[in-house]
Amino acid sequence: MASPVWHPFTQHGLQEPVPLVTHAQGAALHTADGRRVIDAISSWWVTTHGHCHPRIMAAVRAQTEKLDQLIFAGWTHEPAEQVAAGLVEIMPCELTRVFFSDSGSTCVEVALKMALGYWSNRGSDRQRILVMEHSYHGDTIGAMSIGERGVFNKPYEPLLFDVGTIPFPTGDGAATLEALETACRSGAAAFIVEPLLLGAGGMLVYSPDLLRSMAEICRRHDVLFIADEVMTGWGRTGTLLACEQAGVVPDILCLAKGLTGGSMPLAVTMAREEIFMAHWSTDRAKMFYHSSSYTANPIACAAAVANLAIWREEPVRERIAALGARQQAMLDRLAQVPGLVRPRRCGTVAAIDVEARDGGYLSNLAPRLMALFREADVLLRPLGNTIYVMPPYCLDEADHAQIEAAIVRGVEAVRA
Ligand SMILES: *Cc1c(COP(=O)(O)O)cnc(C)c1O
Repeated sequence: MASPVWHPFTQHGLQEPVPLVTHAQGAALHTADGRRVIDAISSWWVTTHGHCHPRIMAAVRAQTEKLDQLIFAGWTHEPAEQVAAGLVEIMPCELTRVFFSDSGSTCVEVALKMALGYWSNRGSDRQRILVMEHSYHGDTIGAMSIGERGVFNKPYEPLLFDVGTIPFPTGDGAATLEALETACRSGAAAFIVEPLLLGAGGMLVYSPDLLRSMAEICRRHDVLFIADEVMTGWGRTGTLLACEQAGVVPDILCLAKGLTGGSMPLAVTMAREEIFMAHWSTDRAKMFYHSSSYTANPIACAAAVANLAIWREEPVRERIAALGARQQAMLDRLAQVPGLVRPRRCGTVAAIDVEARDGGYLSNLAPRLMALFREADVLLRPLGNTIYVMPPYCLDEADHAQIEAAIVRGVEAVRA
């Protein structure tokens, strides 16, 4: 019987194969038909240390013996308290408050609501949100509103709210800074941006200097600076946070994906004390009106506690540096392959473009490549003509070589 499952970002009409994965370990996925597939995109950017990290799995098992779920409005539990305390310790000290939710999209929605709540509770009418061209912040209505508009959200456009968009930086980025300055001057509640690396927009990279300048412009105009580090956080860009490389501390910080090492759905929105205090009152109307059923689920929090311990006690930063160096070496070789252009890297993320010949060639390129990679037992999911590799930090040299070989052969095949 055909499966009743309706998969995300999947055109079922094309009847592409949907492999069944039975178990995973480290960077490897094992399928029901006996294949070992390398997870070269960390199961869509979430798996940081590797699949089924023993410490995270043990923490989850232990938590299942104690407390499964708890209402979080007005109640609390040990794992949530430990995650919050651990985050305050490891993240910039200005970020003193931790609000839990369950996905990248929802922690972004929370960030937007915090920003508007901040201004509203202070009696200001600032409401406009500023965004960067080509950004991605999630697939809920608010998150889509602040993201790039395109074929993926066209039908829902009537539901999306209006935002101010500044251009993605090119050259020295002067046009971007000027547009941000102008937009801030005419009054805005907040500017939200993916620091250093725009993921779903095509693995687009910009400099820490520009990030710092953008944050300074926001500060000067009293516009809240929201860093969406859902993808860039937890070492992806080479440092714990991408903002670190620019010496920037955001007013609001969004974290999800790697928060549990990529094992359980959990997200947080961290805020500076002023934003929390704008909601602190004896007036109930000023409280922060947001909650979802599984806010701070204890089992997910236990996974996050284990992730924080791994960051404290294992040589995670050394693994990231080593992986980044190997990614660079791979890129240097791939840049010599005919048809591959614009190699770029941000920390552990390597990306390169397949030279576009014409529109028709382009439109089919990503699915064709993806199928070729799948046949080579490598999970890669090109974004348009951009091939990128974003592996778990435990990826070994042999698996790395297999990824590179699959890319070389895949590109040769589509160009033949
Ligand atoms: C993945 C992503 C999100 C959305 O996270 P989900 O957990 O998929 O909802 C938001 N922002 C960025 C930058 C992302 O990469």
